[in-house]
Amino acid sequence: MNASTIVIVGAGQAGAIAAAELRQQKFEGRIVLVGDEPHPPYERPPLSKDVLLKPDATRCAIHPDDFYAQHAIELKLGVAADAIDANARTVTLTNGETLAYDKLLIATGARARRLPMLDALGDDVYTLRTLDDARRLLPVLQPGRRVLLVGAGVIGLELASSATDLGAHVTVIEQAPLAMMRCSPPVLNRHLCDVHRARGVVLHLDAPLERAERANGDIVLTLKNGTRIAGDAVIYGIGVEPDTALALAAGLDVNNGIVINAQCRTSNPHVYAAGDVASQWNDASGRTLRRETWENAKDQAVTAARTMLGIAPEANAVPWFWTDQCGLNVQFAGDMAAPEWIARGSLDAPPCMLFGVDHEGALVAAITVNQGRDMRSAKELIARRARLSRDVLADPQQNLRALARGA
Ligand code: FAD
Ligand code: ADP
Repeated sequence: MNASTIVIVGAGQAGAIAAAELRQQKFEGRIVLVGDEPHPPYERPPLSKDVLLKPDATRCAIHPDDFYAQHAIELKLGVAADAIDANARTVTLTNGETLAYDKLLIATGARARRLPMLDALGDDVYTLRTLDDARRLLPVLQPGRRVLLVGAGVIGLELASSATDLGAHVTVIEQAPLAMMRCSPPVLNRHLCDVHRARGVVLHLDAPLERAERANGDIVLTLKNGTRIAGDAVIYGIGVEPDTALALAAGLDVNNGIVINAQCRTSNPHVYAAGDVASQWNDASGRTLRRETWENAKDQAVTAARTMLGIAPEANAVPWFWTDQCGLNVQFAGDMAAPEWIARGSLDAPPCMLFGVDHEGALVAAITVNQGRDMRSAKELIARRARLSRDVLADPQQNLRALARGA
């Protein structure tokens, strides 16, 4: 592999981490990192948080600007990969250039799912996926502005929190009976809804959208139950769709994401995938899973880079992610579909934790609320499927670190 060329399509988090890992592991060949955005690779988690709240003080670049040149990583920005020829092992770019590769990593991430009913309104309608999207929101999230947020997923609620902090009047419209249902258990979701309401957010749950229109300079959204809500702007976050177009056209297996095995190999032996675009085989659930988290993008990028170089990747048994909203740092580890949740402390008085237990009494998940210091111990216990009594789990006096060492 040492004198060969590795092309990475998608200069987001997975792409940037994979390029760095290749050099870290002493790969001496050519690395080309192709990104359609104009910015050097950056992290997205701050986009709904500090980029909005402290725009001048927030940097989200993944590596320093001179990192790419210093590590001989050819960074091609503002240009998209247009087609992959998997037989010829080439990638054609929108600027007409053709890159030959020995190994290819597809790290094209995901795009905000579109809602044509809202897009049809034209101006004053926004989604949030990129740094440019976040910057477009700055003039919208102003004191007194009436902001309508459609979708109460993680991004919707983080936006509700930031917009409220910035003095906007926020109304959230969610079609499901609770917020954050994709990735978090009802016991926490109910609490987060209460916290947002206590901060002045108007939350419509179980409220599918029926119609969107303009009237007298306002945007007016009508819910299925007939409620009409007027606002100055709409921001919607109704999930993402993996950017699989290139992979599909190249004949790779795709099933809600590019299908990869535990080593991040696709159905083509020279092509790998990582991050939000990838749907990875998961032994525990017996199916492929596509995760949309910072940690997953990082871990899969490292795995793909090492596999390309013939280095055995490390397995990460317990998936983890976090959200920041309403002054709460909430971290999640393990299986959020756990059938039973046990509280350690009270959600009304954080710091506190929730433990998820499966039908056999094994610890399979944990959530910390302003208690991130205990997350590492919780992950160790989950990795071992520790069986601790409900009383021990619920008792804040039981030191989690000691339990992790002794279980
Ligand atoms: P991306 O970061 O999306 O990068 C893919 C890149 O590829 C993009 O720049 C895209 O434009 C580019 N691309 C696509 N197609 C092409 C092409 N044909 N040619 C060239 N380039 C192409 N996760 C957490 O765990 N915690 C959080 O708090 C959190 N907050 C978030 C907040 C926001 C607002 C968003 C949007 C995401 C957040 N996430 C969070 C999720 C996390 O940021 C993503 O999981 C992560 O960015 C995925 O990385 P990726 O490299 O797979 O994709
Ligand atoms: P994101 O990453 O954008 O936050 P999630 O999947 O976490 O994505 O959340 C998206 C939320 O948007 C879900 O709660 C889902 O029920 C909601 N949603 C999807 N479509 C609509 C719609 N048409 N109107 C209102 N809410 C919607």
